[in-house]
Amino acid sequence: MSSLETARLRDALVAIVGAEGVLSSPADLSVYECDGYTLERAQPDIVVLPRSTREVAAVVRLAWDAGVPFVPRGAGTGLSGGCLPLEAKLMIGLSRMRQIRAIDVPNRRLVAEAGVVNAAVSRAVRSHGLQYVPDPSSQSACTIGGNIAENSGGPHTLKYGVTTNHLLGVELVLPDGAVVELGDAIEHTLGYDLTGVVCGAEGTVGIVTAATLRLEPMPAAVTTLLSIHETVADATAAVSDVIAAGIVPAALEMMDRTIVEAVEAAFGFGFPTDAGAVLIIEVDGPAAGLAALTAAVTEICRNHRARSVRVAADDAERAALWKSRKRAFGAVGRLAPNYCTQDGVVPRTRLPEILAEIECIGARHRLRIGNVFHAGDGNIHPILLYDERDEGEVARVIAAGREILAACVRLGGSVTGEHGIGVEKMQELGLIFGPDDLAVMRQVRAVFDPDSRANPGKIFPTSGGCVERRRPARQAAL
Ligand SMILES: Cc1cc2nc3c(=O)[nH]c(=O)nc-3n(C[C@H](O)[C@H](O)[C@H](O)COP(=O)(O)OP(=O)(O)OC[C@H]3O[C@@H](n4cnc5c(N)ncnc54)[C@H](O)[C@@H]3O)c2cc1C
Repeated sequence: MSSLETARLRDALVAIVGAEGVLSSPADLSVYECDGYTLERAQPDIVVLPRSTREVAAVVRLAWDAGVPFVPRGAGTGLSGGCLPLEAKLMIGLSRMRQIRAIDVPNRRLVAEAGVVNAAVSRAVRSHGLQYVPDPSSQSACTIGGNIAENSGGPHTLKYGVTTNHLLGVELVLPDGAVVELGDAIEHTLGYDLTGVVCGAEGTVGIVTAATLRLEPMPAAVTTLLSIHETVADATAAVSDVIAAGIVPAALEMMDRTIVEAVEAAFGFGFPTDAGAVLIIEVDGPAAGLAALTAAVTEICRNHRARSVRVAADDAERAALWKSRKRAFGAVGRLAPNYCTQDGVVPRTRLPEILAEIECIGARHRLRIGNVFHAGDGNIHPILLYDERDEGEVARVIAAGREILAACVRLGGSVTGEHGIGVEKMQELGLIFGPDDLAVMRQVRAVFDPDSRANPGKIFPTSGGCVERRRPARQAAL
């Protein structure tokens, strides 16, 4: 946008949301130059922070009339550059839409605005013995709107399903400013599953302003185990065998030695830093059956040479264990100035192969790579450590990331388990889908957004565009 256009737009936005809801100074905008994927950066020209659906609709209508594309943003914890303002210089932040509009305990559902932080939903219903299950490790910051856009998972989605399985309906502002209600508060609705289309669309079909979420009862009893293995291969073989035995744990997470070292230094839980890998396994359900389940899981881990299998003694120890796991990414900051979290998925029986492959790729590119992931569903998160001041190393991180994703596809998996395509993986989408598949997806998107006004330049591969942008972060920031 020219500076004149920006100034005009700014005045019009101030008229809708007030001056405190419009940011345009370089210092303010610098906060919004990237999400959790920091290899690429771009500043918006304006950030607008509406407080209600009415204000979002008025802002979007204004953008529509002015021919200005926009990018929605929640908390900016995304890990694939989804809210990077590349082709849309107007950013619409939902962080001030934080109301829980309704809690319906008997029907186990809740209506939350898009900017409500994930963890706040479970907090709001805990006293009723209910919870909102999807629990991304970023749940203390990420928003319901961002979760819906990314169809986010989390440690406990292995047994209970990801965001789409807990989403009953959405209030959506279409790219022309119209407000529609999709889905319903009841379990089964007629017609096309349009809520399903919005979930995982990464903001390319409009802005979610509120959502009706399904709540689940808290499990009657929970046991959390820590299984310590000498090698990653033993740990991943145990993962496969647990699931093959017909056991569906509530969560089944793995951390390798690199990550354990960082986590132990940060939180001092008492992990052995000489172990090859640790598994955190949680089983839940009626108290009566839990001892047998725990025994079965323990035996499988021991069959795979577990050095020890320890059961969390009480809620405090369980909470400390989960704190270590959920804050593992943050602890990685101790290991290197920068890191890039990759996200792929393989059939869980192929975990040993993909982890061996990741090790080879790291060695070939002279990179240190740690692994912390939702092992139970085969969702891998290799963490590539680097220093962004070393442009050669940045280039090697990008190349290694692409090789890891290609390996996931070769092993029968996919290029994202839960972090979405964003800008990071647009090129990789072609590894999974052919031109005809992509054409159908573009047509679906066009039904909602015929002029590509909502988060343009994301998800779909463009000829050459994303390759060109894949340059070192320091250059990209210039
Ligand atoms: C430490 C850490 C741990 C993480 N752990 C997990 C994990 O366990 N599981 C997992 O799935 N992810 C995880 N993530 C990734 C990230 O937290 C999720 O993708 C999350 O859902 C993003 O939410 P957000 O509010 O930060 O969205 P943002 O990053 O702000 O946006 C993400 C995408 O959603 C779009 N968007 C945001 N709000 C809306 C809206 N209201 N309407 C339409 N589109 C919108 C944006 O345009 C963008 O494309 C983790 C990230 C970090 C940093």
